Amino acid sequence: MTATKTERIKCLIIGSGPAGYTAAIYAARADMNPVMYTGMEPGGQLTTTTEVDNFPGYPDGIDGPTMMIQLQKQAERFGTQVRMGMVTEVEFSKEVGGIHRACIDNSTWVEAETVIISTGATAKYLGLPSEQRLRGGGVSACAVCDGFFYKNQQVAIVGGGDTAAEEATYLANICEKVTMLVRKDEMRASKAMQHRVTSTKNIDLRYNTEVDEVIGEQVVEGLRMINNETGEKEDIEITGLFIAIGHKPNTDIFKDQLEMDDTGYLITQGKSTKTNIPGVFASGDVQDKEYRQAVTAAGTGCMAALDAERYLATVESEAEETEKVSA
Ligand code: NDP
Repeated sequence: MTATKTERIKCLIIGSGPAGYTAAIYAARADMNPVMYTGMEPGGQLTTTTEVDNFPGYPDGIDGPTMMIQLQKQAERFGTQVRMGMVTEVEFSKEVGGIHRACIDNSTWVEAETVIISTGATAKYLGLPSEQRLRGGGVSACAVCDGFFYKNQQVAIVGGGDTAAEEATYLANICEKVTMLVRKDEMRASKAMQHRVTSTKNIDLRYNTEVDEVIGEQVVEGLRMINNETGEKEDIEITGLFIAIGHKPNTDIFKDQLEMDDTGYLITQGKSTKTNIPGVFASGDVQDKEYRQAVTAAGTGCMAALDAERYLATVESEAEETEKVSA
């Protein structure tokens, strides 16, 4: 019986959002023959967005899924192999020049000289059936992406952290009125951000308030709020509901191997995309809880490919030196 040989690749890219595809374009053009595994949601978070109006180079905007298909085609034009599949386990080598291993769909292992992680983060939702039904129909987890579609309209936002505070003030500039629902009697956001919220006239701040139901069949038409102290319910008319209750970085499979902060975001070194493991790089939302934009993710994807290319060059030249010395 012959044992099947494990595939060895130069550059493994995990995840298929703007960071992953940009890394793929750069890695492929640098002859690193990248192989990308797309993950469960090929194209990443942008595929759940309708119109992308803030990515430079698209004067008329572009819808998220189309943009991701174009990014895939561009990556494939230079030789990237894009494969459907989920990386379910990793074994990273701690040695410089060591070989990293990744298991695909709990069955096949691949070996890689470099790994670029661009697994992104997933926006948290409340989990209400009415909210899930209206995702894409007025319920959004990104005010910067979708706020403009609600110009001069009435909207609501849920959350009391820095993101919710920042997005509420962003929306207040565009929309007629923003109702902000905070579930406790205080906000978690920094004092400065709280001040910005409370001093913005068209933000109606409601403490101890949660979403009872999002009203509307095809599109959002209103919101039933509930005061969690008194149980009192109130309906308001809105056309957009923004959920800003945090994100979860997709890093579970890297636990105990890569350094992460206390919320699970990967830690990169200085201005680079280097993780604590030589040859493993992180780009996009998986290492960025602050900016979280397609264009910033793409930027760090480019950086990760350049960092990986330089790493390989150093490893190869060190190996050549060692060969010369021992010859
Ligand atoms: P946070 O985890 O800080 O805040 C989440 C908020 O959502 C909290 O107010 C929380 O309420 C609320 N929440 C959670 N679950 C629910 C629920 N089921 N129903 C209602 N409300 C809920 O997330 P952020 O995205 O705001 O921030 C993430 C990190 O990024 C933070 O460290 C933040 O400081 C940072 N950040 C910094 C910015 C800046 O400096 N400019 C901008 C944006 C983010 P509760 O408090 O009751 O738990």
